[in-house]
Amino acid sequence: MSTLDKPANAANLTVLHGASSKMRFPTQYLFTAYWALGAHRAAAIPVADKVDNASQCHKTKVAILGAGVAGITAAQALVNASVTDFRIVDRNDYIGGRVKHADFGKQVDGTPYTVELGANWVQGLGSPGGPENPIWTLAKKYGLQNTYSNYSSILTYDEEGAADFGSLFDEMDAAYTIVEQDAGYVLTDNLQDTSMRAAFSVAGWKPKKNMHQQAIEWWYWDWETAYPPEQSGFLYGITGYNLTFYQWSDENNFVTDSRGFNAFIIGEATEFLGENDPRLLLKTMVKSVAYGPDGVNITFEDDGCIEAEYAITTFSIGVLQNDIVEFKPQLPRWKREAIEQYQMGTYTKVFFQFNETFWDTNTQYFLYADANHRGYYPVWQSLDGPGFHEDSHIIFVTVVGPESYRIEEQPDEVTKAECLAVLRAMFPDKDIPEPIDFMYPRWSTEEWAFGSYSNWPVGMTLEKHQNIRANVERLWFAGEGTSAQYYGFLQGAWFEGRDAGQRIAGLINGPNQEVQCNSETTIDCGPQAKYEVLHGTTFLDEFNILNGWLVSSFLDYGYEE
Ligand SMILES: Cc1cc2nc3c(=O)[nH]c(=O)nc-3n(C[C@H](O)[C@H](O)[C@H](O)COP(=O)(O)OP(=O)(O)OC[C@H]3O[C@@H](n4cnc5c(N)ncnc54)[C@H](O)[C@@H]3O)c2cc1C
Repeated sequence: MSTLDKPANAANLTVLHGASSKMRFPTQYLFTAYWALGAHRAAAIPVADKVDNASQCHKTKVAILGAGVAGITAAQALVNASVTDFRIVDRNDYIGGRVKHADFGKQVDGTPYTVELGANWVQGLGSPGGPENPIWTLAKKYGLQNTYSNYSSILTYDEEGAADFGSLFDEMDAAYTIVEQDAGYVLTDNLQDTSMRAAFSVAGWKPKKNMHQQAIEWWYWDWETAYPPEQSGFLYGITGYNLTFYQWSDENNFVTDSRGFNAFIIGEATEFLGENDPRLLLKTMVKSVAYGPDGVNITFEDDGCIEAEYAITTFSIGVLQNDIVEFKPQLPRWKREAIEQYQMGTYTKVFFQFNETFWDTNTQYFLYADANHRGYYPVWQSLDGPGFHEDSHIIFVTVVGPESYRIEEQPDEVTKAECLAVLRAMFPDKDIPEPIDFMYPRWSTEEWAFGSYSNWPVGMTLEKHQNIRANVERLWFAGEGTSAQYYGFLQGAWFEGRDAGQRIAGLINGPNQEVQCNSETTIDCGPQAKYEVLHGTTFLDEFNILNGWLVSSFLDYGYEE
């Protein structure tokens, strides 16, 4: 049993939550040696070219909608339980979903670098003698080139250039420790949850108009969750961080592999899919999903279809919220309420390659505090230093949330000019040239994602989140956003894909006396729990004088139709 399986108590959580945080590891590790050690390589991409779906209706046991981490892991779990009759469908032409890379810039030999537009870090690796993040296990299995991200390697700036406000990290650390302890009490004693903003304020952290403090807070909070503290739930915000970084380790390793980060997903798929395997249908867009107690019928945009006994959708929360796929009948109200309440954040990396490096090449991060605007091009990340794309003169800046929506709506040239103005403010003594390459993705408008990853909003309960996971009849839901423990992370998608695959395999194969439902295997766990009615905390008769409620809420004397 892991520490986290034990019944929680406040003291226990204080130990778990007490140590903070991103700032503690000054040493830089280089984890590039796996290449040299001849680690497991991903084989050829098992890509079937577009099948002629129009003329086909595939009959199968399990339809897996999406070939990202969750979809491939679900298929793998089925295969491990001897269910090999499945179809994996994805509208993109590659395996990996939000683990997506692109060519960028030029190396000395003229070939491009590979940069990750989506997931970039393995977050929370593992500690000696403790459990290991499955994504880290797979990163090692496929020898993914990666480098330790050293969050202590940081310089701070504002609109007047270099500005040393690094001591604020210690202030934030102190408040964060209090916040974590408070979360322990909320969890243990079933206290009411609140917003991250309220929790920070109670702990004495109130940045208000202090833009240096705002930048530090952004670095700590928004950068990870893609939402500001006002819109983020407190308890599940803290557990979401701790389950990854305290269960495994607080190391984040940044992947720079020229095959792309998705090499590990392709590698796993190759273990059970042959080349041109007809069970993988890429470039195939799902248009509608009709579900019932006996099976699921899926239709494609080009009129092809699948008739399956079970289906798993791994579509992002953004896709589910944007009604891109029609569910027949409409998903039940308890499910729609949960999906609509949950949040899909956007995280946008804006890449630059210059013909020189005008920033300190031994520093990994440059934090900018704008004079007026919180979250305005705040974190600049060098890829030029040792272990990254060395001497590449590549740097990128990240924005999230409303800033992502803003820049993803505007033309490249406007964004480029805004960024260059910020760089010129940060480095007033340098002559900042025009970049030789520039690029950024538009996650918020990408119709197969509608954002980057999910975030736990204020007021969302565990039961309501469970309603996102819950199957309706034979239609199942899995993916990063269905994970209560690891939402937002690759590991969330991995665990949820495995869970859905195992449970469905268990239902197909029938009861198995040897494996019982437990945290190691969910093969015999059956359908997901669901909560069709979720009550609040206040009964009707408690709207009374004791609680400052003097008159009935249902009076209508002054209202004329
Ligand atoms: C910018 C960004 C940065 C991130 N950084 C990190 C990080 O550093 N570390 C980390 O751990 N995680 C990170 N994440 C999160 C991580 O990428 C996700 O948690 C994970 O990839 C989600 O996998 P999934 O299988 O749940 O969903 P997806 O990868 O979204 O897979 C779902 C699939 O469904 C397909 N699909 C959608 N609609 C249809 C349709 N109508 N028909 C057919 N197919 C469809 C999509 O094409 C997609 O391939 C980041 C994500 C983004 C976008």
